[in-house]
Amino acid sequence: MRTSSEYKKSLKQMRPNIYKFGELIKDVTTHPTTKRTVEGHSQIFKAAQKSEYKEILTTKSHLTGKPVIRYLSILGNADDMIANVRMKRLMFNLTGTCTGGRCVGFNAINAMWSTTYDMDKELNTDYHQRLKSWLIDAQNCDITVAGALTDPKGDRTKTPSQQKDPDMSLHIVEKKEEGIIVRGAKVMICGIAAANEVFIMPGIGYKESDKDYAIAFAIPRDSDNLTI
Ligand SMILES: Cc1cc2nc3c(=O)[nH]c(=O)nc-3n(C[C@H](O)[C@H](O)[C@H](O)COP(=O)(O)OP(=O)(O)OC[C@H]3O[C@@H](n4cnc5c(N)ncnc54)[C@H](O)[C@@H]3O)c2cc1C
Repeated sequence: MRTSSEYKKSLKQMRPNIYKFGELIKDVTTHPTTKRTVEGHSQIFKAAQKSEYKEILTTKSHLTGKPVIRYLSILGNADDMIANVRMKRLMFNLTGTCTGGRCVGFNAINAMWSTTYDMDKELNTDYHQRLKSWLIDAQNCDITVAGALTDPKGDRTKTPSQQKDPDMSLHIVEKKEEGIIVRGAKVMICGIAAANEVFIMPGIGYKESDKDYAIAFAIPRDSDNLTI
C-alpha cells in the first residue's frame, strides 16, 4: 500500500488539468485552493500505516488476498458495511473534512460490482470481468477514486435527450472498436483534485430514449480532453 508521500508524488506526476478562478493549477499538492483537500486524503494513507487504525482502515482483498484500503474493497457482508461506516467516521474525526476522493469512488465501485455481475449474466457481456481487472490494478496501485454522478441536467422538466444542449448530461457520441467517445459534463465531484481516477456513473434512472446517457466507466483524472 502507498505511503502519503508516494500518494502526493502520484498527484504531482499527473497532467495539470484543473482550473480554479481561470487559473491552471500546476501542482494540486501545494496550490492554496487544493492543498487542503489533498492533505485530508493524505491523512488516510498516514492513518492506514498506524497500528491503532490499521484494522479500521484496511482489509484483505477478496481478489488478491493482499491487504487493501477499505475504500477499494467490495462489501461482502453486513460486517463490511459496519466497518466501512467506522472507517468514514474515523477519517472525518481525524481530518474534519470530506474525503470524497475515496469515499464516493467506493460507493460507485460497489454499485457497479453487482450491477455488472447481473448484466453479464443477463446480456452475455464481460463488464464484470473488466471491472474486476480494473479493481485489481486499482488495489495494487492504491489509487484514490472520486465519483462523478451528478450531471448539470439543464431544464429539469425535460429528459437528457430532450434538452436544447445535449451536453447537459454526459453521453456517448461514438462507439469504436477500442471503446467509447463521450461528451458532456459532470458537476459537484468531491475530492476531485485529490483523485488519481474518476468513476463515472449516471445520476438518475434513464428510459430507452436516453440510453446514450446510461454509461458508467472509470478514467484517469488527467485523461486527454478532460478539463476540471
Ligand atoms: C456536500 C455535497 C457533496 C456532493 N458530492 C458529490 C460527489 O462527490 N459526486 C457527485 O456526483 N455528486 C455529489 N453531490 C451532488 C448531489 O448528489 C446532487 O446535488 C444531488 O444528486 C441532486 O442533484 P441536483 O443538485 O442536480 O438537484 P436537482 O436534481 O435539480 O434537484 C433539486 C430539487 O428539485 C427536485 N426536482 C428535480 N427535478 C424535478 C422534477 N422534474 N420535478 C419535480 N422536482 C424535481 C429534486 O427532487 C430536488 O428536491 C454532492 C452534493 C453535496 C451537497
